[in-house]
Amino acid sequence: MPLLKEIARVYGPMVAPPSPTSPIDPVSNVIVTYGASQAISLACTALLNPNDEVILLEPAFDVYTSAVRLADATPVYVPLRAREGSVERSADIVLDIDEFISHLSEGTRMVILNSPHNPTGKVFTHAEFKAIADAIDKYAPGCIVLSDEVYERLVFDECVHVPFASVSPSAHARTLSVYSVGKTFSSTGWKVGWIIAPKPFVDELKIVQQSAVFCVSHVMQIAFAQALKMADLPYKGFPSYYCWLRDHYRGKRDLLVDAVCAGGMIPIIPEGAFYVCAYVPLSHPARRHVGFLPWSVRELVEAGDLSVDETTVTRPDYTIARNLIATNRVATIPLSAFFEERHVGLYGLSRDFVRLACCHTDEILLQAHKRLQDC
Ligand code: PMP
Repeated sequence: MPLLKEIARVYGPMVAPPSPTSPIDPVSNVIVTYGASQAISLACTALLNPNDEVILLEPAFDVYTSAVRLADATPVYVPLRAREGSVERSADIVLDIDEFISHLSEGTRMVILNSPHNPTGKVFTHAEFKAIADAIDKYAPGCIVLSDEVYERLVFDECVHVPFASVSPSAHARTLSVYSVGKTFSSTGWKVGWIIAPKPFVDELKIVQQSAVFCVSHVMQIAFAQALKMADLPYKGFPSYYCWLRDHYRGKRDLLVDAVCAGGMIPIIPEGAFYVCAYVPLSHPARRHVGFLPWSVRELVEAGDLSVDETTVTRPDYTIARNLIATNRVATIPLSAFFEERHVGLYGLSRDFVRLACCHTDEILLQAHKRLQDC
């Protein structure tokens, strides 16, 4: 109960739409989960029926597709596209609202949104979310929205995080907002998350949660109730822990962006979350031998220490990621891993980009800076 109360206190006003609705009630509107991962699978299990269509924006965090498929529902992908001209910042990656509308149908049961966005760092603006909310009102009024906002506190520069549920009363009435302590309190392995939603959804979630895990560890709940209380207090010279966190990660983002540039790659500067997507130019040494495994990787495969999905060998971004780890000892994720297999190569982001993460010590980020220059 202490955590439910703290969540209602902190997040109730954040997810409230402009016109007053009844305040968030800790018992009826909040459910605690084992991290956001379990929140996503719980929502899909409890609220989807076989053959329901679920819209995902691609590139998409992989857990969404698995959770939708495990519920026997059907993922329908709408691409996020690069704005015309060069893509310098994550704000240059946009959803074409007409394309989004063209994928809504009577069968659409759920739309999954994610802001700040993994992997691109895009932070959806109020206007972008309002356009999505209005489109759903008009073309799929029976639809639920699952809004994954786990990186809510990690927004940089002039950006502000907008909870989807806050953009209109109807958005509020159809939205399950997902949060996690993993990113906000740098405690991924502690696995505490929650969903805030209207009572009828929470009632459905509770039925499944009771048979799945019954409840989340009370020790963890008490710890994070305390953390939420303390996070509003001044911290290390900043007005609150959240202000410090934002500044802390902005510094790390900048270190990683510098490292990527020094390594001859072109970053999409993220305005949120803690990843940097980097374009790897055609002349870059990490692109050598596309279609082959680096020798050190092949040796591991032959020794039976590593298995490789052969369909990835011809993808440029997988080759780049394998070369970067084999030669530079820098781990990245090929961006095509965030796409459905049949979409790989169709969109620019799915061919020539890797994702790096800046949730490391500054020393490690400076090491990466050095290593990325070793070619
Ligand atoms: N959503 C997104 C977008 C994520 O990136 C992650 C973690 N990588 C999660 C959810 C899962 O969060 P948790 O660790 O709380 O399960």
